[in-house]
Amino acid sequence: MDALAQLEGLAAECADVSTWSLSDAALVDCLDTIHRVAQTIAAAQLHVVREIDGRGLPVAQHASSTAVWLREHLRISVHAAKRMLDLAAELERRPALDAALAAGAVNVEQAAVVAAALQQLPADLGAELVDKAEAVLIGQAGQFEPTILGKAGQRILAHVAPEIADAADAAALRRMEERAHQGRAFHLTRQGDGRVRVTGWLDEAGAATVNAALDPLCAPRHDHGEPRTPAQRRADALVEVCGLAIRTEQLPDSGGQRPHVVVTVPYDGLHEKLGIGLLDTGGRLSATQVRQLACDAQLIPAVLGSDGQVLDVGRGRRLFTGGLRQALELRDLGCAFPGCDRPPRWCDGHHIRPWVDGWPTSVDNGVLLCGHHHRIIHRGHWVVRLGDDGLPEFIPPAYVDPQRQPRRNLYHLKT
Ligand SMILES: [Zn+2]
Ligand SMILES: [Zn+2]
Repeated sequence: MDALAQLEGLAAECADVSTWSLSDAALVDCLDTIHRVAQTIAAAQLHVVREIDGRGLPVAQHASSTAVWLREHLRISVHAAKRMLDLAAELERRPALDAALAAGAVNVEQAAVVAAALQQLPADLGAELVDKAEAVLIGQAGQFEPTILGKAGQRILAHVAPEIADAADAAALRRMEERAHQGRAFHLTRQGDGRVRVTGWLDEAGAATVNAALDPLCAPRHDHGEPRTPAQRRADALVEVCGLAIRTEQLPDSGGQRPHVVVTVPYDGLHEKLGIGLLDTGGRLSATQVRQLACDAQLIPAVLGSDGQVLDVGRGRRLFTGGLRQALELRDLGCAFPGCDRPPRWCDGHHIRPWVDGWPTSVDNGVLLCGHHHRIIHRGHWVVRLGDDGLPEFIPPAYVDPQRQPRRNLYHLKT
C-alpha cells in the first residue's frame, strides 16, 4: 500500500509535467517509458483481480459473477471485465508471460493474443513445447502489433513442432472435409413464376468436378446479338452437361426406361401454338417451348387428344436415332449454326419443318444444332433450310443482315 501511495504521487507528478518543454527525443522516450510502466501497473492490477476472483469476494458480496462485480465496481463494460478476468487467469498459469507483461516487454493486448494462441495448442502437447511457443511469441511481441502477432500465434505450432502441426493440420482438414461432405445438398425448387431455384452445398472435390465439367462450356460464343452474362453462361452449361449425360445413354435406367424428360401436352396446343405443356416435374411450359423440346432426344411428349386420351407416347418415328443420326452427323459434323464449333455429341437433331406439324423425321428434314442454337432457331428469327447442295444454311434476321444472305458453318468443313 505504501508503494502504491508513492506510485500515485509520482504518477500525478508525471501527469503534471508540461509536455511542450520536452525535446523531441525526450518526448518519445517519455511515451515509451509511460507505456512500459502502464503495462507493469496493468500486471499488478490483474494480480489483484485474480486474487479477488480466487477468494470469491464478489460472490460473497452477492454479485452474480466476478465480471458483473467488476463492471459495477470499476464502472467498465462487462466485456472489458471478462477480458481482464481471462487474462488474469492466464497470467497465473503462465509465469513467463506474466513476467513479460510486468516488465513491459509485452503489452496487455499482446498478452491476450499470446494467451489465446497458447490455449489453442493441442491439449496433449508437452509442457516443454508450450513453454517454447510462449517464449517465441513473447520474443515476437517486440516487433509485431497484436493482429500480426495473432497470425504468428496461429502458426506457432508449425514453428515449434512442425511434424505435430502437420498431423494436426491433416486431422483438422479431415474433420473439415467430413463436415463438408455431410452437409452436401442439392435442391431444385419451383418458384411458381416460371423459375426454378437451384441451391445446395458441395464439398471441395465435388465442386471441382462440377467446375471442370462446366468450365469449357462457359466461354463466350457467337451469340448473335444476345450476349450472355457469365452467370447465364454457367446456367446454360449446367443444362448442357446434363443433356450430354442423357445423350451418352450411359446413365442408369430409371423405372426400366432410359432417362428422359416427359412433357404432356394437348394435341391442339402443339398445332395452334396455344395451350401449355405439363412436365412430369409439375412445371408448365409454353407451346413454343414444347415445340422445341419435341425435337429433342431428351424429351418424350405424351400428346393428349381433346378428351385427354394419350395419342402418342414414344420416340420411334420422332427422334433422330441410329442410322438417321449417323447420317446427320456425317453431313453436319457438329452444330450447323454459322460460327458454332460444338461437336456432334453436344447436338440435338432439329426438325427443319416441325415434327408436330406432321413433317417427317428424315435426313432431308433434319439438322444438328447445339442446345444454345436449337433455342435460337426455335425463337424463329433465324431460318434454317437445306441449300441446293443438300447442306444446311441459315438465313439471318434483318437486324443481323439487312440483305438476309444465307450463311453456313465453316468450322466443320470437310477437308
Ligand atoms: Zn428443333
Ligand atoms: Zn451451336
